[in-house]
Amino acid sequence: MSARSASPTIANGTGGASAREAAASVVDPEIRVITIDELGILRAVEEDPASGRVTVTITPTYTGCPAMDVIRADIRRALTAAGHPDAEVRTVYSPPWSTDWISEGGRAKLAAAGIAPPAPVRTAGVVSLTLAVRCPQCGSPETEQVSRFGSTACKALWRCRSCSEPFDHLKAL
Ligand SMILES: [Zn+2]
Repeated sequence: MSARSASPTIANGTGGASAREAAASVVDPEIRVITIDELGILRAVEEDPASGRVTVTITPTYTGCPAMDVIRADIRRALTAAGHPDAEVRTVYSPPWSTDWISEGGRAKLAAAGIAPPAPVRTAGVVSLTLAVRCPQCGSPETEQVSRFGSTACKALWRCRSCSEPFDHLKAL
């Protein structure tokens, strides 16, 4: 349980720290290097202090991703293992998930796994953003999209013109 990312959007229920940690440790079934917390789809973990019932709120990522059923099952399994067998996983669609919700740590993990992280959709205004997708292998901006669909619907297949390596690019949303 090291390197927990600070997520200001997570509401911690009374005494729900361990339930929150259990839910936050679940990895995305399609991008296994990143947790649902780092991906930004874990919205809230609340524990009823009287009944011990845990309510987890998640927001789906791309509509084309059939991973949410797996994520729901994984959350329940993680909570049961952490001593919270009475758990409900709720899905909220508003506000819609955006790749902007991926944490800095999550972006670094994506890059380390050879998946080009999505560029910020909304301009932060701090740094000027380049639209180029950089090769996660050599960092070259000389890249081109090969296919709109990579290994999953969430990812597009790109190729680097400098080192010729293909790579997955997580589509910005
Ligand atoms: Zn390259």
